Amino acid sequence: MSNESRAEVLARLPLREDLRGSTPYGAPQLDVPVRLNTNENSYDVPGDVVAAVVEAVRQQARHLNRYPDREFTELREDLANYLGHDLEADQIWAANGSNEVLQQLLQAFAGPGRTVLGFTPSYSMHPIISRGTGSAWVDGKRGRADGRTDDPNQFDLHVEETVAQIQDHRPHVTFLCSPNNPTGTALDIEVVKAAYEATDGILIVDEAYAEFARPGTPSALSLLPGRERLVVTRTMSKAFALAGARVGYLAADPAVTDAIRLVRLPYHLSSLTQAAARAALWHSDVLLDTVEEIKSERDRIVTSVGELGLRPAPSDANFVLIGGLGNEKAVWRSLLSRGVLIRDVGLPGFLRVTAGTSAETTTFLDALADSLLDVPGEELQTLS
Ligand SMILES: *Cc1c(COP(=O)(O)O)cnc(C)c1O
Repeated sequence: MSNESRAEVLARLPLREDLRGSTPYGAPQLDVPVRLNTNENSYDVPGDVVAAVVEAVRQQARHLNRYPDREFTELREDLANYLGHDLEADQIWAANGSNEVLQQLLQAFAGPGRTVLGFTPSYSMHPIISRGTGSAWVDGKRGRADGRTDDPNQFDLHVEETVAQIQDHRPHVTFLCSPNNPTGTALDIEVVKAAYEATDGILIVDEAYAEFARPGTPSALSLLPGRERLVVTRTMSKAFALAGARVGYLAADPAVTDAIRLVRLPYHLSSLTQAAARAALWHSDVLLDTVEEIKSERDRIVTSVGELGLRPAPSDANFVLIGGLGNEKAVWRSLLSRGVLIRDVGLPGFLRVTAGTSAETTTFLDALADSLLDVPGEELQTLS
């Protein structure tokens, strides 16, 4: 090896100019006892489902000499059945995680010379995928911040500001995220309707956390009829506890799936993935059993951190954004030293924690109370 640094070699490589100086997605993957930083489902896949997945994969193994069904027709039928809303299989598309679905959408509808708008803070992968596809990313703003950094509702997205920013930037693709990551709160469905009317581009509503929403929260799936530029994305990574399988999907007008066929790589969804996803969907009742437990742990986090004097945002997801921290980086480190990994989402005064099992939640809440006493300045928060 030469003593030249990799950064020096990278600087010399003929990399795309627009990628120079950017950083990759990098949520820490640390081996600590309590991992509550990437909104995974903390529950293992139940035994019955494991058996069904293994059997489905076993049956496919013999046929691995052949390419998979390029159209993953049966999986699309199963996904349409799961979603309901009278959706048909030809309105569904799937890929290796909803991140790949989003990338395919931007390859088809954005790209060089085109603009993508999102409302920050939101899912950090939206700008990264945008940049990767050579699209121009516009960092839209959300919330009528009143200068109080601990106001839990400051990140709500309202109709007027959404429409105004769409009209200003005239994006080819607009991202909404509901329930929004990292804030946790679901969007008012009126924002989705108004955003659709305001744009002649594609409107993507990322509903990765839809299954965790509070009762009465409508899905943008209900808006699909008659809206050919509306796309709703979902994933099996969160509620279905299948992050490792990499299965995400969308529902939209069938013509949107035809557009994606122009950019997708043939056979992108392996036969093993298709088989595993279908076996899991046949057991969706069992898999989704943990959703209610996770929601009650989420609600416990909201109540308990409020009692500690902090400011949780209302959550429709499997995580909680906690505001009112004087020194979030020190609290994050203090929690890690106690074996609890949560997420610093880069918002001063805030940290995000995933709702895990009951035991994990208790460990987190105890560690948080201790950390607040540890970190200079934080004890004042708990007294106010
Ligand atoms: C976790 C998450 C996803 C999931 O991505 P996959 O590629 O399906 O694992 C998508 N969108 C948001 C907002 C998320 O937080």
